[in-house]
Amino acid sequence: MKGLSFMHIMNLEIDSLTTLAIPKSSHFMQSSNHYVLVIGASGQIGTELVTRLSEIHGSSNVISTDLRKPESSSDNPFEELDVLDKQRLSDIFRKYRVKEVYLLAAMLSATGEKNPMKAWDLNMNGLFNLLEAAREGQFQKLFWPSSIAVFGPSTPKLNTPQETVTEPSTVYGISKLAGERWCEYYHQKYNVDVRSIRYPGLIGWKSSPGGGTTDYAVHIFHEALEKGEYTSFLSENTYLPMMYMPDGIEATTRIMQADTASIKIRSSYNLSGMSFSPKEIASEVKKYLPDFSMKYAPDFRQAIADSWPSSIDDSAAQKDWGWKPQYDLAKMTEDMLLNLKKLRNEAVS
Ligand code: NAD
Repeated sequence: MKGLSFMHIMNLEIDSLTTLAIPKSSHFMQSSNHYVLVIGASGQIGTELVTRLSEIHGSSNVISTDLRKPESSSDNPFEELDVLDKQRLSDIFRKYRVKEVYLLAAMLSATGEKNPMKAWDLNMNGLFNLLEAAREGQFQKLFWPSSIAVFGPSTPKLNTPQETVTEPSTVYGISKLAGERWCEYYHQKYNVDVRSIRYPGLIGWKSSPGGGTTDYAVHIFHEALEKGEYTSFLSENTYLPMMYMPDGIEATTRIMQADTASIKIRSSYNLSGMSFSPKEIASEVKKYLPDFSMKYAPDFRQAIADSWPSSIDDSAAQKDWGWKPQYDLAKMTEDMLLNLKKLRNEAVS
C-alpha cells in the first residue's frame, strides 16, 4: 500500500462498490466527476431517470433542475432553473462542469392544446437553448425526447415505420416534429451529439403523469385501488403504443451510453413496448381486483388519441443500439399493483 494515500484507498473502495451497484450490462460507462444535468427532473420521467442515473454515476454527480422542487427527497443536488433562462443555464453548466444533459422540460399533449403558444415557446426555445449551448461546447452530449405525437391522422396506424408520413395535428406533435428536424440539423451542421427517442405513453408508479393523452393508463391503477372504479377519458377500443417506465428509463440510458457510431438516426428513434386499449387494461386489472368496474366518458383527448398510431415498429432501435423491452401488459399490471399496494400499506402503517 506504500505510496497510496488514505483518500486514494477510499476512492478505490467507493469505485468498486459503485461498480457492484450497477445491475445492468457492463458496457455501461461509469466515471467519476461525470456531471449529468437533468432539466425537468421533478416530472413523471425525471423522477425515475434521476434515480437510475444516480445508480450509474453516483447521486452527487447527477444534478436535478426544475421550476419546482422534487416531491420526494434525494441526495442529488437541486437547482431551481427555468430552461428558457439562457444565462442561468450557462452558469449551471460552468458551476458543475456538466458533460451530459437530459432535457425533459416540456408542455405535454393535452395541456399543450389548452395553451398552444406557451407550449410552442417552451418546447422549441427550451430545445434551442440546449442545442446552442451544445454547439458552443458548453457540454458534450444531449438527450431530448420526442414522442409518438409526431405522427398524425395520415400516418399508417399499425406497426408505424421509422420513416413515414408525419403530419401531426396537435401543437405538441408539431413542436416535437420540428424539434426532431432541428436535432438532426445541429448534428449534421455542427456535429452536436444529440440523441432522441420517440417515447410512447409511459406508465409508472413512482410519479404522477404531467398532462398527456395516455395518462388514463396510470390513473386507472390508482383509482382501482382507491375506489374500485375508474372512468376512462378514452373510449374502450382506443389502442395506443405504451411502455412501462423501467423500459423507458432503460432505453434512455442505453441510447446515451451507446457508441457514437451506432447512433445512425439523429432525428429520433421509434420505440415500442406494448399496445393495448382501455378495455384490455381494465380486464387485466380485474384479474387482481375482481370487483373493479370501468366506465367510459371520452373527452377532447379522444381526438388526439385518434390521430396517433396504435403500434410502432422499432426495428431500427433494436438493430442500431440493441433495444429490447422487458414488459408486456400482464407483467406491467402485476408490478404496478404490487408496488402501489405496498406504497398504500406504508402510508397507513
Ligand atoms: P412532466 O410534465 O411530468 O414533467 C416536466 C417537468 O418539466 C415538470 O416537472 C415541470 O415542472 C418542468 N418544467 C416545466 N417548464 C419548465 C421550465 N420552463 N424550466 C424547467 N423545468 C420546467 O413530463 P414528463 O412526462 O416527465 O415528460 C418529459 C419529456 O418526455 C417531455 O419532453 C415529454 O414531451 C416527453 N414525453 C413524455 C411521455 C410520457 O408518457 N410521459 C411520452 C412521450 C414523450
